[in-house]
Formats: sequence, C-alpha cells, structure tokens
Amino acid sequence: MRVALYPGSFDPLTNGHLSLVQRALRMFDKVIVAIATNPKKVPLFTVEERKAQIRQAVPDPRVEVADFHGLLVQYARERGVHVILRGLRAVSDFEYEFQLANMNRKLDSDIETIFMMTSENYFYLSSQLVREVASFNGDVSGLVPDNVLRSLKAKFPKE
Ligand code: ADP
Repeated sequence: MRVALYPGSFDPLTNGHLSLVQRALRMFDKVIVAIATNPKKVPLFTVEERKAQIRQAVPDPRVEVADFHGLLVQYARERGVHVILRGLRAVSDFEYEFQLANMNRKLDSDIETIFMMTSENYFYLSSQLVREVASFNGDVSGLVPDNVLRSLKAKFPKE
C-alpha cells in the first residue's frame, strides 16, 4: 500500500491544501494529513478544531487525519511511512522546503520527501494570509472550504 504523510499546521485548512490532497490520492492509496503541534505557536484553531475541519472537508476513507508533536521523521517511522509530501507554491517556499527536506534526509535516509506544485489558483494562498484577511472580516470565500469559512466567520464575527 502506498502511503504519503502530509504534514503541516493547517491553521486553517485552505483550498490549496485540499487540492494537494486530492491530487496526491491519484498517486497514493492513502494520505495521512498530520497536524504538527507546536507548543511555541499559539494557533487560531485548536488541534481538535483543525482535525474536525479537515475530516469534514475531506470525507474520504483514504484520508486519515492525525496529529503529532516532535520530529516529523520520528513520527513517519512510527507510522511506517516512507514518503513525506509537501506542497510548493511560489519560489519563496523553495529555500525553506529544501532545507527541511535535506535535514529530514540526514535524520533518516529511508524517508523521501516529494513535492507537488499547487494549482495556479492557489499559488499565493497561505493559511497565514487567510487568518489575517479573515480577522479583518475580509472575504476569503473560494479560498477555503465552506466549513472553514463558517468557522472563520464564527471566530471573527462582524461588529
Ligand atoms: P507549515 O506550517 O508546515 O508550512 P502549512 O499548513 O502552512 O504548514 O502547509 C503545509 C504544507 O502545505 C506545506 O508543504 C505547504 O507548502 C503546503 N501548502 C500550503 N499552502 C498551500 C497551497 N496554497 N497550495 C499547495 N500547497 C500548500
């Protein structure tokens, strides 16, 4: 069974993430979307909220939603997964992703990182931008799934 581990913050899940998962399912039998929990970062949505958002937006039995803390390669090993999936957007992603992939390869050479390009509509879309725009009640419809849009509206009600 071909399994890919797709790690990230997903705070919140965007249509860019979704498009990546959907395209990955053409190549893999299963995709584990794994929320990295970082005790130093204060997220907008809790891990449980994010898990629920992803489950609701991708109700596909081939997609598992999980969370982990600590080293990604350690978690991949625990899960017996050899492929880490990351998305590449604009050139600005490249440097950081390259560093990360190299470090992960150094930590465990059995684990391969593969990159998929985002679809052009979501090239400049990031969770951070979504959070910022939504916090000022800007319209992010079309950029996030409907359930996430509702959660954002609840989080930032119009005064
Ligand atoms: P991280 O904090 O690890 O960057 P993110 O949730 O921002 O977590 O992103 C998780 C993964 O999804 C990363 O590989 C990132 O490049 C990718 N990604 C983020 N936004 C998009 C997008 N709009 N299209 C495709 N991939 C994306």
